[in-house]
This record gives sequence, C-alpha cells and structure tokens, in this order.
Amino acid sequence: MSEPLLAVDLVSKSFGGFVALSQVSLIVRSGERLGIIGPNGSGKTTLINCICGSLYSDAGSIAFDGIEVTRIAAHRRARLGIARSFQVPRPFSSMTLAENVAVPLEYVAHRRSLHRADVYAEARAILARMGLADRADAPTGALTQVDLRKLELARALATRPRLLILDEVMAGLSAVEVDEMLGIILELSRQGVTIMMIEHIMRAIMRFSERVVCLDAGRIMAEGTPAQIVQDADVQRIYLGD
Ligand code: ADP
Ligand code: MG
Repeated sequence: MSEPLLAVDLVSKSFGGFVALSQVSLIVRSGERLGIIGPNGSGKTTLINCICGSLYSDAGSIAFDGIEVTRIAAHRRARLGIARSFQVPRPFSSMTLAENVAVPLEYVAHRRSLHRADVYAEARAILARMGLADRADAPTGALTQVDLRKLELARALATRPRLLILDEVMAGLSAVEVDEMLGIILELSRQGVTIMMIEHIMRAIMRFSERVVCLDAGRIMAEGTPAQIVQDADVQRIYLGD
C-alpha cells in the first residue's frame, strides 16, 4: 500500500449549535479512487470544504502529503495540489471556456510565470481532454449541463492537482452523460491523479470506487469496498432505502 496523500484526523465542524461533522477520520492513499456517499445533509460538502480550506474545521487535523494544512488558506492548499469541483458550477460567465481555464492555470499552477500564449495552449489542451476542444472560444452562457460539468472539471485540472475532489459532478446528467463523465474521470485516475468522488449515483460510485466511505449525520457510518458497502445493513437502511 502506498503512503497516505491525505489524512483527515478527528475533524469536527459545527454551524452555530448544529454539528455538521463529528470526529471524521479518513485516509486517501496516493493513486486511490475513493467514493463518498451519504444522504443529503450528511456533511459531504462540508468535509470537502474543510479539506480544501473553504471552511476551517473546529477541531481535528488535516495533512496533505505529510504537511499539516488544517489552518492554511485555501489558495495555498490549491498550490500544494488539492483541487475541487463545486456542486453548483460557477464559471466566470463573461469569459470564454479557454479564458475560464486560463485563470487557475495562471494563478495556481504557473503563478504567472508563463507567457500568455503558452497558458492558452495549455488551456486548450485541458479542454480537449474533456472533449470541449471545439468550444474553447465559445462563451460559457450557452453551455449545456454536461458541458458545464466538464468545464468545472477542466478548471479543477488546470491547477495540476495531485488530489482531485469531485462534488456531485454527475448530478442531473443522463445515463449516457454519466458514462461519458465516468470515462473522463477514470482516464484521469489512470494518468495518476488521486480522486475523491462524492456522488449520489450508485452505479457510478460502484464502478469508480476502490473504496467507499458512507457519511450519515456528520459521522462515518460505513467503509469498505463497493461490494461490502452495498451489503452493509446500515447503508441499506439509511442510504439505499429498505
Ligand atoms: P451534503 O453535502 O452531505 O448534502 P452539507 O455538508 O452541505 O451536506 O451540509 C451538512 C449540514 O450542514 C446540512 O444540514 C447543512 O444545512 C449544514 N450546513 C452546511 N453548510 C452550512 C453553512 N455554511 N451554514 C450553516 N449550515 C450549514
Ligand atoms: Mg453536498
């Protein structure tokens, strides 16, 4: 087994009196594909926010590649190699797709050390990996749901992540589109990106994951291989329905 790339240790987070995460511990190994499931409101996005630095946890620690990141700012975590997609894509709507991808390339990956032409060439290459090459100069306004999701993935990839965290990137997609996204994501995994995927679509989670963690009411209630998770009585009761 390879070294942990991410180590979340006893992380808790409350909003006012409401406990959204309670002593969550998990490890993501380098190269791993980890699936995260759990009912709405179980704390999945809050966990991502704490890992990426959009929120600071109230207690516990988070280490990335051996570096404690619990209290460091989100942009610095991005530069260390943690990237995430947002559950609701929010591209810069006045910009083209290539311009949207150029922003994280310039500000996170290269820190403005590259020539603009090189940045745009790389932006186009990343869009091509998403199947969006022909839309590079189009405005984002007219994008379909699946293309918006692919752009969201492209923007996360532009930070050259070692850990990519995907928050329900398949929500609202058709079965064919889910398969297409899954193909892109599995290819990224083959290229060496460690991926944590939060997803409701069980078919996608089962095909993607080497290991699955199930959250319920801010706690980890089950963990195992996809086969173990679907057999788990608590998961069946709480998440899949009886
Ligand atoms: P999930 O992604 O699993 O659906 P979330 O992490 O978004 O769940 O939310 C977990 C719980 O925390 C929910 O009850 C939600 O309403 C609450 N919550 C999330 N973010 C905030 C916030 N910024 N302020 C107050 N409550 C929040
Ligand atoms: Mg969520």
